[in-house]
Order: sequence, then structure tokens, then C-alpha cells
Amino acid sequence: MRYSKLFGKTIKNAPSDEVAVNAKLLTKAGFIRKEIAGVYNFLPLGLRVLNKISNIVREEMNAIGGQELELTTLQNKQSWEKTGRWSSFDVLFKAKSQLDIEYPLGPTHEEVIVPLAKQFVNSYKDLPLYVYQIQTKFRDEKRAQSGLLRGREFLMKDLYSFHTDEKDFEKYYEIAKKAYKKLFQRLGLDAIETQAGGGTFSKFSHEYQVVAEAGEDEIIYCPAFAKASVGKPGCHFSQNQEIAGVKENESCPICQKKLAKAKAIEVGNIFPLKTKFSETFGLTYKGKDGKENPVVMGCYGIGISRLMGTIAEVYNDEKGIIWPKSVAPYQVHLIMINDKGLRIKKRADEVYEKLQKAGIEVLYDDREDVSAGGKFADADLIGIPVRLVVSEKTGDKIEWKKRSEEKTEFLSEEELIRRLV
Ligand code: ATP
Ligand code: MG
Repeated sequence: MRYSKLFGKTIKNAPSDEVAVNAKLLTKAGFIRKEIAGVYNFLPLGLRVLNKISNIVREEMNAIGGQELELTTLQNKQSWEKTGRWSSFDVLFKAKSQLDIEYPLGPTHEEVIVPLAKQFVNSYKDLPLYVYQIQTKFRDEKRAQSGLLRGREFLMKDLYSFHTDEKDFEKYYEIAKKAYKKLFQRLGLDAIETQAGGGTFSKFSHEYQVVAEAGEDEIIYCPAFAKASVGKPGCHFSQNQEIAGVKENESCPICQKKLAKAKAIEVGNIFPLKTKFSETFGLTYKGKDGKENPVVMGCYGIGISRLMGTIAEVYNDEKGIIWPKSVAPYQVHLIMINDKGLRIKKRADEVYEKLQKAGIEVLYDDREDVSAGGKFADADLIGIPVRLVVSEKTGDKIEWKKRSEEKTEFLSEEELIRRLV
């Protein structure tokens, strides 16, 4: 992509009404633009990040048997009255048509997926079943000053699982936990699996919490946890402060280390729905013995756009964002430093073409009227992991620098391509 043509450019100062770090950085760097409070437009750079996050989540959900579908945003009021949530769901947006019909604007989709599943699930042979979507949700959140962390319109992945019994559900719950750990790791995030209250549905559930100052949650966790990643041994104790049976500075019930308290962002959660929704809508299956039983369900959410905000909160410095490789909008940011003549420009154009031919995603700053300093500042702000420079100084080599390091290297085109593919 030629930067000169890109829709959405960097700006020097964040709009004065943005307070959250993620909103300031992402707006300055040209990834998002606020429409109204809690509602953001995703510009081409922003959409690329959002799509990369979605695709990682999608791959991991497919890997645990999830079938992707897309459910409606305008939902059925009667279904919400049936579950009682038409009046009890505090952040439900209600839209009214010109015919005076009211519609819930989907904040979550149990009221849609359960009646739908009822049309296809009849016998134990139809179970287990796992379906998910990556879809825009609407919630009338009271506060919306946290940028992408708390939107009134936001992107969520929600998976629903359907089982014959609790035991089968529990087995899948453990599989989902592993998939969650793996996908957060792929996104470059240390998401701490945290015990939380299950609300009205059950005694327990799990949240995935990323320690960050901007977090609205507080967790009590074992510091040994942070060092233990997937597959590595270590203590795995963490509870949401709201339900916590332990306090900061008490010893960890597992490894006796001193427990710590931290602010954290909930990037995902998983919880049992038991038979609450299946009983309401009469979702049953015929067992081997011919008897009808209610289907046991689980629900698994991930905040896709909140994740983008979280990554911007966690990975930045005074110059801008530092995207993890897996979600960066482009793999490399190529800068052409103009020599007034056409020689360098021609050479940079060639490098751009060659990299693209090799299948590398390139953002190419081809602007002729911007200084080297201005281009470097924009590259730091945008935060693509690798910066490449073609200038008088680089000769027949290309300068390579990682966004996260100061060191520069000079590589031939062949070395460069070998490193990137
Ligand atoms: P929170 O406690 O932060 O309001 P929640 O418990 O309401 O979250 P769920 O309804 O389970 O969350 O939604 C699943 C996931 O969607 C959450 O883990 C979170 O990552 C994301 N999410 C929830 N509300 C928002 C929002 N207003 N803006 C962006 N992401 C959200
Ligand atoms: Mg909420």
C-alpha cells in the first residue's frame, strides 16, 4: 500500500475529547475515528488489525470444532421477553420501527441461537454442537470513555456449545480453555485465566485478564502466574477481586507465594449456561433411551475490538504503538528518502514491487514532500514491527530496523526477503 494513497493519515495531536491511551494512539496513527461516544469507524489500517485478530480467533475456534455462522443484529422482542431479559438486561438497546414494533439490538445472542438450534437438534446424534460468530454487538454502556475497550458498538466473537450432559460440557470447557490460551499467546498477550462469579447461571466461570493500568477490573493473582505460559509449569492462581476468597499479600493457596493485586482488562470469558436457555425455549434432545432431555450449554466470548485497544494499551512507547507481528497491519514499513532526483525513488519503487511479489505486506511511504524525520516519526507512531529505508546512504543495500529496537542493519534484497518470508 502506498502511503500517499492511503485513506486515513496520521495527525499530530489526539482529539481533546479522547482520554484513553488506546483511543489517542489509534486515532493519531490513523487506525480509527470516533463517530459518536463509544462508536468508532475503522479506517483501512485499523480494519487490517481487526481482521488479523479475527482470523487468529477464527482459526482457533475452527480448530476446536466451531462452525462459523452469522446471526442477526435486529432480534426478536418476544424471545427476550421469554427469558425476562427484555426488562432485566440493563444495557439493551431497543430500536422502534415506524410500525411501532420494538427490536432488541443484539448485545449477545442466546435468544437467537437457542430457538435456531431447536430447529436442527433432535436427537443425541446431533450433539455435541459448537457454533460461533464474529459480529458487531450493541450495548447501551453508561460510560464510553475508554476508546475501544468499552464501546456501545463493538466486535465480539461468541461461541455457543450444546451438549447431552454436564460431563460432556466440562470436557469441552477444558478444550476451550486451551484454545483461549493459545490464541491469546498468538496475539502476543499474557491473558491470565481468572476465576470469576458465574452470575445467575452457575457458581463459576473464567475470565481472561490482561494486566494494564487502563483495566476496569481488579484481579488477585499469583505473580508466579505471569511467568508461566502455556505448556510451561507454574502456579495458575487468579481470581477476580469481586469474588475473590483471598486478599492481596496473603499467600497463594497453590504455591504459597505472596498474592498480588492488579488492574486488568477482561478480553474474554467462558461460562456454563447449564440448561437455563434450553429450558426456556424447550431445546431438548431424544436420548438413547428415547427420553427427552434438556440440552446443556456453554458460552465463550472474546472482545475482538477490545483486544485491539488492549494491544495498543500494552504495546506502546512515547513515540507510538508497537504492534506484535501477528496483528500488525503490514509486515514492513518501507520508507523512501527523496534525493531530489528520481534515482532513489525508482529504486524504492522496485524494492516495494519485489517485496510484494514475494508475498510480503508492505506499507510504502512514497511521499515526496515529507522529510525523513517526518516519515520516521509516522513510522514510529503507526508501529509496524519492521522499518526499511531506501536512501542515498543505503547504497545497494536496504536499512532494516525493528520498531522495538534501536539497532540498524544493512541487508541485500535477497537477505531481506529471506528474513521476511
Ligand atoms: P464487561 O464486564 O467488561 O462489561 P461482560 O461481562 O459484559 O464484559 P460479555 O457479555 O461476556 O462481557 O462479553 C464477552 C466479551 O466481550 C468480554 O469479555 C469483553 O472482552 C467484550 N466486551 C464486553 N462488553 C464490551 C464493550 N462494551 N466494548 C468492547 N468489548 C466488550
Ligand atoms: Mg458488560
